[in-house]
Amino acid sequence: MSDIKDPSLAPSGRRKLSWARRYMPLLKSVEADFLRDKPFAGLKISASLHLEAKSAVLCTVLQKGGAQVRVCGCNPLSTQDDVCAALAETGVEVFSHYGDSPEEYERHIVRCLEFGPHIVIDDGGDLVSMLHSRMTDLLPGVLGGCEETTTGIIRLRAMEAQGALRFPMLTVNDARCKHFFDNRYGTGQSSWDGINRLTNLVVAGKNVVVAGYGWCGRGIAMRAKGLGARVTVTEIDPVKALEAMMDGYEVMPMDRAAEKGDIFVTATGCRDVITRRHFLKLKDGAILCNSGHFNVEVDVAGLEKIAVGREEGRSELVKGYVLPNGRTVFVLSEGRLVNLASGDGHPVEIMDMSFAIQALGARYIADHRESLETKCIEIPDEIDYDVARRRLAASGMEIDTLTREQEKYLRSWEI
Ligand code: NAD
Ligand code: SAH
Repeated sequence: MSDIKDPSLAPSGRRKLSWARRYMPLLKSVEADFLRDKPFAGLKISASLHLEAKSAVLCTVLQKGGAQVRVCGCNPLSTQDDVCAALAETGVEVFSHYGDSPEEYERHIVRCLEFGPHIVIDDGGDLVSMLHSRMTDLLPGVLGGCEETTTGIIRLRAMEAQGALRFPMLTVNDARCKHFFDNRYGTGQSSWDGINRLTNLVVAGKNVVVAGYGWCGRGIAMRAKGLGARVTVTEIDPVKALEAMMDGYEVMPMDRAAEKGDIFVTATGCRDVITRRHFLKLKDGAILCNSGHFNVEVDVAGLEKIAVGREEGRSELVKGYVLPNGRTVFVLSEGRLVNLASGDGHPVEIMDMSFAIQALGARYIADHRESLETKCIEIPDEIDYDVARRRLAASGMEIDTLTREQEKYLRSWEI
């Protein structure tokens, strides 16, 4: 039995699902394969995802493949209650409410897992972490899982290195068809979508500071530039810092950027990127948000401690903190992922690719259940190419093929 906020919200959720499905040709083609082959017959799948329309479409596709599916949220602010209501009508069991407290959020993870999954689909590592800490009795039944995001994979590799990982995990984010598009173009577009919805301010002419020039940071900086901002990048990796410089951005430490920025977006996967010593340098009206990892990149707890007062922002998700120097700075979405907590996350076509990899990854686990090793496993190239081909076909694009002579030439070494 699902645990959702309000089943009567289903009509608006259904509209969102059918809109998403319309623009998800890859998942539609994977669904057709699944309906034919039923790769998950007799299997149970637990997923932890941003519970909005595209994730809901993925769950229904897994179900069409014969799986019994349970899903919970992976971020208390990204769950959309109307989507949960519509998804629950399909027979997928849904455990999430928008704005869940930490205790409710955890209880929903437990409910999602307690039926004993064979496959887990994780985003950020909550399911894997719960299975390896408080629900270890379920570990022997798990054939394997897929992890969606960069930070989740960093944690899995740490578990693997310590010998703690107890079932195989496919690292979806490592697929080129994931991070090239989802992290870069998805986060690039959706972060500005979230910021613009919340602030209603112009970006052109503003000083935007992007912390981290990885896949997400590149996309956020690129789209800020496209909107007319002057962009500064902060980094800790000297090569990435040079890449940002050659891409045309100013590069400097956060200690200096703090004085300069009008809008700050973090995308590092690290903690304390903007912290106490930076807050007192910020301009009055500076806007802080995060598109990277959880709510620790901007040290919101530290900001709350030093603030001497509050100023009401434009909505509940725009909070003003009055500093001892009399300036006010604003934090968007409580420092959680601004693109998901204040928007619908990545655009539909982007999640179509990411979730096609998830669906095919889950199938890979089912098909190879006897032979997978207990470790982090990169998504096989065949899945990456399969997704790219499906995407090209859906876009009506064709590409060249090597001739036999070209193949031979590329393999030769004699002068
Ligand atoms: P990445 O490893 O490609 O990039 C992270 C970059 O941050 C690196 O270049 C690293 O050197 C830099 N960095 C680390 N600590 C730093 C610090 N203290 N100051 C400045 N720079 C620092 O990772 P990515 O794929 O870009 O992902 C970044 C984060 O975003 C991860 O936590 C990931 O899980 C998350 N993510 C979010 C979304 C979303 O929808 N918002 C999408 C994909 C990934
Ligand atoms: N659960 C953590 C981990 C980061 S989420 C947290 O909430 O802080 C980052 C992942 O969200 C990305 O890898 C991306 O694939 C996924 N994502 C982005 N937009 C999404 C959307 N619209 N629907 C579902 N997942 C989305």
